[in-house]
Amino acid sequence: MLVDVPRTTPRYNGALPGVVEGERPTLDQIRRELGDCRRCKLCTGRKNIVFGSGNPRAELVFVGEGPGENEDIQGVPFVGPAGDLLTKMIAAMGFSRNDVYICNVVKCRPPGNRNPEPDEIAACEPFLRAQLLALQPRAIVALGKFAAQTLLRDTTPITKMRGTWREYEGVQLMPTFHPAYLLRNNAEKRKAWEDLQQVMKLFGKQPGSSA
Ligand code: URA
Repeated sequence: MLVDVPRTTPRYNGALPGVVEGERPTLDQIRRELGDCRRCKLCTGRKNIVFGSGNPRAELVFVGEGPGENEDIQGVPFVGPAGDLLTKMIAAMGFSRNDVYICNVVKCRPPGNRNPEPDEIAACEPFLRAQLLALQPRAIVALGKFAAQTLLRDTTPITKMRGTWREYEGVQLMPTFHPAYLLRNNAEKRKAWEDLQQVMKLFGKQPGSSA
């Protein structure tokens, strides 16, 4: 059966913080604009805002869901068990964490690692979009449903979206499974690896062994 997967992304019409119309912001400007953010209820339980890490001139950006416990403590994305797997996936692709940029849909830890709620995503989304405008990467890997659905404004399940190139504001976007999901579902790693190999192809990297 053919599945009707939309390829175009509805436009996001909200204002982008720290962005002057028609100008490319810097990550520092956006971080300053974020400040000691109190825009949603996640601020009450956080230890640190997890803005993002990596190369500000990265051509490849990974977008996750939101900080977990380790990330909240360290203020750095993907440094817990899911982060260890992501680091291996990045290495298997022929990159290092210093080559790429890593950030999340929400920048503060949801209590008990629950899913981010719509109001929290809505408060943080403009900062993610502004970060991507600053970075202007060649490709984005959306890790899991929150990243893919938020950036693409598409409620298609990640199981259906993954593995097919999409477009985000003129940038190629590959939706794939979240590393935390892969830790729980080892058998799905093969599919995620296929998705990442498509990204490698875009960058002219040779497929090696899987993560
Ligand atoms: N999961 C995420 O989505 N992001 C992190 O930074 C860590 C775990």
